[in-house]
Amino acid sequence: MDCIFCKIIAGEIPSKKVYENEHVLAFHDLSPRAPVHILVIPKEHIASAAEISAENSVYVAKIFEAIPEIAEAAGVKEGFRVVTNSGTSVGQSVMHLHFHLLGGRAFSWPPG
Ligand code: AMP
Repeated sequence: MDCIFCKIIAGEIPSKKVYENEHVLAFHDLSPRAPVHILVIPKEHIASAAEISAENSVYVAKIFEAIPEIAEAAGVKEGFRVVTNSGTSVGQSVMHLHFHLLGGRAFSWPPG
């Protein structure tokens, strides 16, 4: 499968890894939009949030279990944002489910 994040999981493409367990990998975004910009992804290929189901939701649970630890290690546990883009119309560019963990600056709400 020609998926860049699957290749990162397989170690075929380098990444700046910050966290890993059986279900989850987290690494720095290549083009950070904030002082802290980490991508948290499932180790199974799930195309987007639109493809989350009872069969694969354990990966989502494991991701959100890991996020407090990742945020703490990044120094932003007191305030961070978690975002996922699902679909090209809202800006998804990599078709492997990922949650952007953003912090280290102020963010507007609602997002643009
Ligand atoms: P999205 O646009 O929501 O699909 O987010 C995809 C994110 O992946 C973007 O923020 C990119 O900067 C990031 N990205 C793409 N390729 C890589 C890579 N090889 N390593 C780290 N981040 C990447």
